[in-house]
Amino acid sequence: MTDYSSTVHLPKTQFPMKGDLPKREPGMLAWWESAKIYERMLEAAKSRPSFVLHDGPPYANGHIHIGTALNKTLKDFTVKAQALMGRRAPYVPGWDCHGLPIEHALLKEMKLDKRAIKDVPAFRRKAAEFAGRFIDIQRAEFRRLGVLGDWDHPYLTMAPAYESRVLSAFRRLLGAGYIYRGLKPVYWCVYCETALAEAEVEYKDKTSPSVYVGFPIKRAAHAELLGAEVLIWTTTPWTLPANMAVAFHPDLEYALYEAKGAKSGRLLLAKARAEAVAKAIGCELRELRSWKGSELAPAKPQDRGALDFEYETPFGGRTGLGVLAPYVSAEDGTGAVHTAPGHGADDFHTGRHYGIDIFCPVDHAGRFTAQGGEFAGKQVFKEGNPAVVEALQNAGRLWAKSEVSHSYPHCWRCKNPVIFRATE
Ligand SMILES: [Zn+2]
Repeated sequence: MTDYSSTVHLPKTQFPMKGDLPKREPGMLAWWESAKIYERMLEAAKSRPSFVLHDGPPYANGHIHIGTALNKTLKDFTVKAQALMGRRAPYVPGWDCHGLPIEHALLKEMKLDKRAIKDVPAFRRKAAEFAGRFIDIQRAEFRRLGVLGDWDHPYLTMAPAYESRVLSAFRRLLGAGYIYRGLKPVYWCVYCETALAEAEVEYKDKTSPSVYVGFPIKRAAHAELLGAEVLIWTTTPWTLPANMAVAFHPDLEYALYEAKGAKSGRLLLAKARAEAVAKAIGCELRELRSWKGSELAPAKPQDRGALDFEYETPFGGRTGLGVLAPYVSAEDGTGAVHTAPGHGADDFHTGRHYGIDIFCPVDHAGRFTAQGGEFAGKQVFKEGNPAVVEALQNAGRLWAKSEVSHSYPHCWRCKNPVIFRATE
């Protein structure tokens, strides 16, 4: 056998054949540390142009995982590469010490439910200690990854100096008129009692009540409509006490029907939905007259007057307003959409457009407030839905009820269905 090794020309080095990094790395890192590599790197480049990486901090709420490790090492590659290219490249690590991810991890460790917290200041102190503990743990873990930086002087979002900078920046924004307080519709978990970001919501099937409800028309541009009912469909009866408007699509055809069958009366709904609705409410529908949506309600609040469409809300005896909205479809329901600006994103924007009150009679625990009238104190899903349906039935407003299984947003954490709620 011929020995080819003399024909392969490799550089001669002192490197051992085997990497054995788990054993060897701690020694290398200790040497970097004792040789003060990071400090010397900065000192050598002190009159050079700077490269400053602003590090978005991890939450101090647990050990590092593959995501935090990848994030931190990629940043370290970047900083070290810039330093080797001759820049002054300081790296100041930081930690996010506030918020739900910290509190949630602490509650899990304490095996406690959020509702069990009685002494809030004491819990906050515990959360600060908890964050402090994981800052030390993560600092050691990031250093073990070989990340160079000013590990003895990190920035901490709970440091008083940091908080005071945040406040002074906020004061400047306030002084310049950029800050206002208003309502915003958010996903809300009534079990966790917190707002949820879009990414914290998971869709899965839920069984909900499905109801068809008539609202008596009080005022309309067309005399035939007076005394008739505008028919809506909803799978969230608990939002009916917050009803403020009914939305029509400007280009859809609507008709007034004589309904005869399980119940009798005159109903306004989209022509494209008449067949399906007739089946759902067990009635025959005879068309009396039709209009386009744009002939029923004003397109802009300024246009109110001649085209005013008013009805009696199902609860609270308020006057509801007919409005136009581009998202109304003839895919399901009646083409006349129950609108509760306090409980839906589309509803909220429509409400704002028409200057309608953003009415939200539901509290953080999902219970009707005193503004919820006869339903005050009831939880929206468990008690609210059946109570609302029963009240509608008694008032003769209910045209049909059944159940429907549909895709519905749920809380990623507790897996319960969420609600939409306008909050300050
Ligand atoms: Zn939840």
